[in-house]
Amino acid sequence: MGTPLDSREAQVDEVLDRLYEEYPDTDISLNFSTELELLVAVVLSAQCTDERVNEVCEDLFEKYRTAEDYAEASEEELADDIYGITFHNNKAGYLKGIGEILVEEHGGEVPDTMSELTDLPGVGRKTANVVLQHAHDVTEGIVVDTHVQRISRRLGITEEERPGAIETDLMGVVPEDDWRMFTHLLISHGRATCTARNPDCDECVLADVCPSERGDAAVDLASGEAW
Ligand code: SF4
Repeated sequence: MGTPLDSREAQVDEVLDRLYEEYPDTDISLNFSTELELLVAVVLSAQCTDERVNEVCEDLFEKYRTAEDYAEASEEELADDIYGITFHNNKAGYLKGIGEILVEEHGGEVPDTMSELTDLPGVGRKTANVVLQHAHDVTEGIVVDTHVQRISRRLGITEEERPGAIETDLMGVVPEDDWRMFTHLLISHGRATCTARNPDCDECVLADVCPSERGDAAVDLASGEAW
């Protein structure tokens, strides 16, 4: 079991320093070239892998280039065009609804405020944060996905359980300049080392500061259960 630093702020600083060094080039792994493509890709990525989304979007973005294209397509056709994505029927409805609202209320553009984005179907705070950060260069919060949720808890940075509460808690201890990269660094670490079922603590650069380190910690703080 590692020993976390004395304060959560110090723990965050140490974790950030080490992960910046470990993953110097980390960034969003969805492929996109316009704001609309990013919005669509993030909506499709809910409970689906980025790899699968990138595969499906290659053809999708060739066919659907504007908000009008999504608004005018039938849900059946859209569902067919995103087949292979989890919950493709629901998400087809979201894409059509998004296209309609963008056309009717935003001149076909992707809005740049949290409230306008979260008014779109299929767009929650997490999706809106990603779009704001990567399409508009606006950082209003911290994206809390499953990796951020799990690893922040394992490292003793938060004891909150729900994504909304975790985000609020993290915003109080992660320096604002690092909000965006905090997510990408933890996602990279979650994919490479600190996986959900079988974290490789022996190879982890955070092992000596991690209170969940499996060598001798009895409990996975992410779940609160014994390893
Ligand atoms: S891999 Fe192990 S030591 Fe590293 S952060 Fe995850 S639980 Fe902690």
